[in-house]
Amino acid sequence: MSIRLAVALSSFAVLAAAFTACASPFAARPTWAIAIHGGAGTLERSASVEQQQEHRIALERALQAGRERLMRGESAVDVVEAVVRVLEDDPHFNAGKGAVFNEKGEHELDASIMDGSTMACGAVAGVRTVKNPVSLARLVMEKTRHVLLMGEGAEHFATLVGVERVENSWFDTDYRKKVLEEVLRERKQQGSALGDARSAPRDPRHDYGTVGCVVRDKNGRLAAATSTGGLTGKRWGRVGDTPIVGAGNYADSLVAVSGTGTGEQFIRHTVARSIGARVQFGGQSLEQAATALVHGVLKPDDGGVIAVDRDGNLVAAYNSTGMYRGLADSNGRFEVAIFEK
Ligand code: ASP
Repeated sequence: MSIRLAVALSSFAVLAAAFTACASPFAARPTWAIAIHGGAGTLERSASVEQQQEHRIALERALQAGRERLMRGESAVDVVEAVVRVLEDDPHFNAGKGAVFNEKGEHELDASIMDGSTMACGAVAGVRTVKNPVSLARLVMEKTRHVLLMGEGAEHFATLVGVERVENSWFDTDYRKKVLEEVLRERKQQGSALGDARSAPRDPRHDYGTVGCVVRDKNGRLAAATSTGGLTGKRWGRVGDTPIVGAGNYADSLVAVSGTGTGEQFIRHTVARSIGARVQFGGQSLEQAATALVHGVLKPDDGGVIAVDRDGNLVAAYNSTGMYRGLADSNGRFEVAIFEK
């Protein structure tokens, strides 16, 4: 073999190796990815197959809605809003219809949305008559110069922008009523004041729910949305982590995160933003960052998060018995789960 031919062949081999090294991880990368959650307060592991199946079907419906929109090329922020609306309308989850009751037997709803491509965000807290709080949060983001509207002011804004309204009792479900009664009975037995922070229900499954969605769209944009009725029997006027940007919901150009669990803990530890900061400044992968927060910073049974990064990596991490969740991407992944496999 001539020297020239040998050199040409070895350069070709080097180029081919370099191409494979760059191209294969790229080829494996999904063009879009989505994760949803329906809360860390799940059924018991011993719940009937039918009950578990009902929840799985509800999760699949929401995940499928998001998948179709992403395949059509919709933007991350449109998709997270649309998917959270589906979950809010579903009585199986603690957001919108089916939200938990506060200590007075009423519903006060919190929601937020964030577009990681622009850092625009909007949130509402303590709304009582807005059928889909996530859409009001989006309108706060788009039609005001503010980030968070609460209580009466948020209701007034809802009237101005004309979103769908319902009676507060429209959010009622028999299941949540029963859980409130149990929680109040438990508190009475313990002699603790209504809404006392120390009187969290003995069974953490009674405490939370919440729904959320994070997305990386075909154009690499990230977004997150989260909506909740909060904690069962919460003191009225209490606001959790869901509408607090960086605590229960966050998105930027690197990550999008939505949380569920003891809101006070998520606020204290700025959970959603801390995951982003570990990726941004700490050189951690999304999975390492989410694991560090959920298993290293939060306490057992505090809850969990779903998250996506700009490469479409998806993470669902929780330290509770289970977390209603679903993950899908353009590589054909489509899975829902409640407990560990
Ligand atoms: N994080 C919510 C809150 O504290 C509750 C939940 O996730 O279920 O309001």
